[in-house]
Amino acid sequence: MKVTEHIAQAKETLFSFEILPPLKGKSIQSIYDGIDPLMEFKPKYVNVTYHREEYIYKEHDNGLLEKISVRKRPGTVGICAAIMNKYHVDAVPHLICGGFSKEETENALIDLQFLGIDNVLALRGDSIKTEAAFRPHKNGHAYAVELIHQVRDMNNGVYLMDDIHLESTDFCIGAAGYPEKHFEAMNLSTDLEYLKQKVDAGAEYIVTQMFFDNSKYFRFVEACRSVGINVPIVPGIKPIKTLNHISFLPKFFHIDYPEELSRELLKCKTNQDAEKLGIEWGIHQSKELKEKGVPCIHYYTMSNSSSVKAIAKEIF
Ligand code: FAD
Repeated sequence: MKVTEHIAQAKETLFSFEILPPLKGKSIQSIYDGIDPLMEFKPKYVNVTYHREEYIYKEHDNGLLEKISVRKRPGTVGICAAIMNKYHVDAVPHLICGGFSKEETENALIDLQFLGIDNVLALRGDSIKTEAAFRPHKNGHAYAVELIHQVRDMNNGVYLMDDIHLESTDFCIGAAGYPEKHFEAMNLSTDLEYLKQKVDAGAEYIVTQMFFDNSKYFRFVEACRSVGINVPIVPGIKPIKTLNHISFLPKFFHIDYPEELSRELLKCKTNQDAEKLGIEWGIHQSKELKEKGVPCIHYYTMSNSSSVKAIAKEIF
């Protein structure tokens, strides 16, 4: 079933979460271990992120980089199929532009259709470690909007391969939104213009980047509505889990902590302190979001579901 159908049918705020594929070498059990504790909260769908293979380089004294290994995560598509089979919930694979030609994307979408997967979250993806800025595949897409056009074309029966008779797909397409603006955008209004283009191209709902200040989400929703973006906007919540997250999350995801939270974070001395505060703050955010009637709350587990479970226990 489509995410938009789940949202339309829901009588109250839905619970959903996203998991990361494990690093190569780990078994599918590591995925189930992350999902099992959260099933009691009855998610209607589970997102599975996609990660490009990463080349690990060693820097020599002369400045030259030597490629020493490639780290690859097992496939998002297969994990989605396994989740749907085991838990009978919908799985939402993340599909990215980076590293893919349009033909490879088409093939991935044909596989998803074959497996009975009804949803995709269409993203550009980030640059990999060896790129200063995002570089599209030479026969791929530079922006998520182009990927959305491709999925929508397939939904209309238009394929790149014209030598075989393929049925139209029927994917529900989600896109990413940034309450604190995407870090490359000149300002929030240009970012919103591009977000509107994604919706006009066929994105039927938006999932936000994590934020720690609900007022930023509410302002973002208002700003979206004022430029004619009328699709559901699902807030993304990430519980802080370790002391390292205190600096890592703002740096990596280009987000700010509100003053009240940062004052409390400064008092944390151990990972346990940070985790406890992360859960309390997650409950505080989720309570308000639910009270205001958001369609769904999307939790970023980042391969660790215990904090999300502690929050969900209080909210769902
Ligand atoms: P876009 O919508 O293409 O936007 C990228 C930038 O370009 C923005 O600054 C935008 O303002 C600008 N822009 C957009 N369209 C145009 C245009 N036509 N012309 C000029 N500028 C334009 N990354 C992964 O690698 N794997 C994942 O699984 C993953 N999951 C995510 C899930 C969520 C909910 C979110 C919020 C992010 C996720 N990301 C993931 C990260 C995401 O790929 C990065 O944030 C990436 O830098 C931008 O992706 P996007 O789809 O928002 O890009």
